[in-house]
Amino acid sequence: MTTLQDDLLGMLGARGALSDPRSLSTFSKDAFYYSPVLRELLDGKLADAVAAPQSVTELQELVRYACARSIPLTMRGSGTGNYGQCVPLRGGIVVSTHRLNRILALDEAAGVVRVEPGARLGQIERQARPLGWELRCYPSTWATAAVGGFVGGGFGGVGSIRNGVLWDGFLKSVTVMEVTPEAALHTLSGTELLGFIHAYGTSGIMVELEVNMVPAVPWEEAALSFPSLEQALRFGAELALDPLEDKRMVSLHEWPIPSFFGPLVAAGGVAEGRALALLELREGRAGAAVSRAANFGGELTYSAPASAYHAGKFCLSDFTWNHTTLWAMRSDPGWTYLQSNLSSDIGEALGQMEALRTFHGGQESGGSKVAFHLEIGRQAPDTPQERVFISALDLIYVPDAPGIAAAIAERERLGVSVANPHTYYLDADPRWSGQPVMDASARYNPLGLLNPGKLSAEADAGSTGR
Ligand code: FAD
Repeated sequence: MTTLQDDLLGMLGARGALSDPRSLSTFSKDAFYYSPVLRELLDGKLADAVAAPQSVTELQELVRYACARSIPLTMRGSGTGNYGQCVPLRGGIVVSTHRLNRILALDEAAGVVRVEPGARLGQIERQARPLGWELRCYPSTWATAAVGGFVGGGFGGVGSIRNGVLWDGFLKSVTVMEVTPEAALHTLSGTELLGFIHAYGTSGIMVELEVNMVPAVPWEEAALSFPSLEQALRFGAELALDPLEDKRMVSLHEWPIPSFFGPLVAAGGVAEGRALALLELREGRAGAAVSRAANFGGELTYSAPASAYHAGKFCLSDFTWNHTTLWAMRSDPGWTYLQSNLSSDIGEALGQMEALRTFHGGQESGGSKVAFHLEIGRQAPDTPQERVFISALDLIYVPDAPGIAAAIAERERLGVSVANPHTYYLDADPRWSGQPVMDASARYNPLGLLNPGKLSAEADAGSTGR
């Protein structure tokens, strides 16, 4: 009888079938180590094999093979997800899309790019900008993250202040392979896309995506320091809400977070003891932002011209979104984070942060600390449902899992909803689409082979596992 590895080698060749211990370990992980809770739960979970098909036909053969033997399949882009989305809880085959990474077509008239799922966002942005287009939004991991992984596991990022998040027109269509013996393909659009956005690869395999872009803008970068986070937030909110100021990023950090940003500190972009605003603004508008900031005690500490955008040693976005947590953990591995949706009302948001500072300094929290990092963005922009959000990726220094649970409970008590980054269950994330994902999963993953154990804590408790 042949082994799984022999079969994969026969199907995909040596570059497409990886079973050495190092590959098994690397491809069975993502960035879940940001969470001490997930580290405990997921360390050591291993795939039985890693497959890297290089064509849809090879992937179809693999899917038919897995269906015939009831082998779990876990899709993987670049593995930068933070919630263990790519970790094969029940073994089986991790299917990496790193060889399905081509940009297939870029429609210069319509601003739509057609790509394979493993195409990197950085590759798309760099190819599109000279042709006059840019991505609507991208995560701070844009250089390495794959488009299929962003759609399957992400939320938003740079550009969200302007064009919204993944649910706001990022995708035009997706071609999905069903995980059945037929391995049939379906091209979907409109509301059917909801079944695949932030679905952790549980509802079908995305094999081709059409991504809507927006006309490219020359962006300049600016860092401004403020006496306090309150001043930075009041400035940032005013800038964010000003329809006449075009911006791609408004990211705010209270002290000591800026001190963690090594390259920016070295470039003189950080002022001791002060809060920091990191901005991407339409070329020529940094001067106006500096004048506005002066009303809030703000001062320019660093700037980069549009000609250096994405071309320098670092971009300011390298210190934003969840990269902020990465810099904090490099400075002291005791830091972790939450994703807390503060009130969009500035006064209320300031009150919520003050209450949380009191909580974290107090006894009930078991001697923890908090430092606030805020991203301002918009959901459903230019629609009646438009909402400006102040998303805290609040750094917390908490001794243990009960400490994290207490920190989440306190936020909920204060009316702050938390997208908990310390669980791998999709239905624990308030951002998932719920029924559309369940429906898509029932239809395109009827055997339950895709990423089993991730969809729902309740369903998982009732399953026998492996
Ligand atoms: P992966 O981690 O490989 O996959 C993510 C999910 O998508 C998995 O569940 C996987 O099964 C599924 N998937 C992958 N390919 C397919 C496919 N072809 N079909 C079906 N399902 C598939 N996220 C944000 O939204 N915004 C941020 O700004 C951001 N910043 C980050 C900063 C850091 C430092 C880190 C570590 C993470 C950050 N993230 C952020 C999370 C993550 O980087 C992004 O969501 C990223 O886009 C994921 O891409 P990936 O290719 O690494 O996906």
